[in-house]
Amino acid sequence: MDKIKMTTPLVEMDGDEMTRILWKMIKDELLLPFIDLNTEYYDLGLEERNRTNDQVTVDSANATKKYGVAVKCATITPNAARMTEYNLKEMWKSPNGTIRAMLDGTVFRAPIVVKGIEPNVKTWKKPITIARHAYGDVYKATEIKIPGEGKAELVYTAKDGTQIRELIHDFTGAGVIQGQHNVSESIQSFAHSCFRYALDTKQDLWFATKDTISKKYDHTFKDIFQEIYDAEYQEAFEKAGITYFYTLIDDAVARVMKSEGGFIWACKNYDGDVMSDMISSAFGSLAMMTSVLVSPQGYYEYEAAHGTVQRHYYKYLKGEETSTNSVATIFAWTGALRKRGELDNNHELSAFADRLEAACIHTIESGKMTKDLALITSLENPTVLSSEGFIKAIRSELEKA
Ligand code: NAP
Ligand code: MG
Repeated sequence: MDKIKMTTPLVEMDGDEMTRILWKMIKDELLLPFIDLNTEYYDLGLEERNRTNDQVTVDSANATKKYGVAVKCATITPNAARMTEYNLKEMWKSPNGTIRAMLDGTVFRAPIVVKGIEPNVKTWKKPITIARHAYGDVYKATEIKIPGEGKAELVYTAKDGTQIRELIHDFTGAGVIQGQHNVSESIQSFAHSCFRYALDTKQDLWFATKDTISKKYDHTFKDIFQEIYDAEYQEAFEKAGITYFYTLIDDAVARVMKSEGGFIWACKNYDGDVMSDMISSAFGSLAMMTSVLVSPQGYYEYEAAHGTVQRHYYKYLKGEETSTNSVATIFAWTGALRKRGELDNNHELSAFADRLEAACIHTIESGKMTKDLALITSLENPTVLSSEGFIKAIRSELEKA
């Protein structure tokens, strides 16, 4: 059988620990036998980041801007322990943070839904995708612990020296205050990424804040979304048969719990932090969450939502058998290959991505799975496979297709 050709390279970002091991297995077993894989390879493994003073991360983000689509393996974000473990020159920043800042993107996280791994919410039939704004608010806030009686004010000084001043509170005793900010440009990028991704995946987009209480701050988010929607996306949404809808965050929470899923829920930074953990744990497993960074210009970087699965890696190094779930990492590849196929009009490549995803789902639904899923499945007598055994089972399912 002829291998599928690729016209444009995919940006490949290799990573660390157990996911680096899976990365190679996935390529060897599930990709290279079927595709003439055309990638521009960047090694974001911690050793190479350290050797290049993290230049390799910057280069990989620039390559993503050049080609448009990247696939990334999970990477270590160094902490004090990693400084000694890897003998690092510096505590390098999170690669995801660096790439996100360079692409100015929004991260969309969605669970992979299979029969046998049932969501805790009975009505959920389709995935719920969370889009989290990744800049500002409480994450860039300034806080003061108020020691006692006194007046707290919010002051803005314009370049020409004129001021806007608002009383926060006239304290009669001790307390706390907090100053938050966001910038319109970032909110606009967030909105564009959300509208674009909704069109891309043909899903409705929900956006929710607390604009009834926060009449200027949250209301600005609501207004920016609406202005951009009206000016640039309304027609395309109508054509695609999808809707954009804004509601209050508490109303959104209530609706989500009664919904069937199958939509994108855009959240402010804090709401997204909290809600994405709720959605992923209610859907079953962190190992079944995919993640894609979408820039407002339409660059895409696909990855798994989980980390490098360090504990399994140490077992692997000791020669012990591991049962690490590769599905989210495989879906990072299929997401990227499908997108590459769409952009290049390479139907074969997109169709291969569909087949590989279906093979993963069939494998699990036929009762063959890794340990993390076996612990939570509603299927009876699942077969627990090793990391490699699971990938081989997907391979034989793929060859049937
Ligand atoms: P993690 O790698 O996501 O793993 C946490 C635990 O979740 C694992 O120990 C394992 O539980 C379970 N798990 C996660 N993925 C799994 C999979 N595919 N199959 C089976 N079980 C899975 O998070 P972490 O241990 O907090 O972080 C490890 C490293 O990853 C850190 O250095 C962190 O900086 C990095 N990280 C990177 C990214 C990224 O690149 N996007 C994201 C998060 C964390 P059991 O051990 O109980 O089996
Ligand atoms: Mg969190």
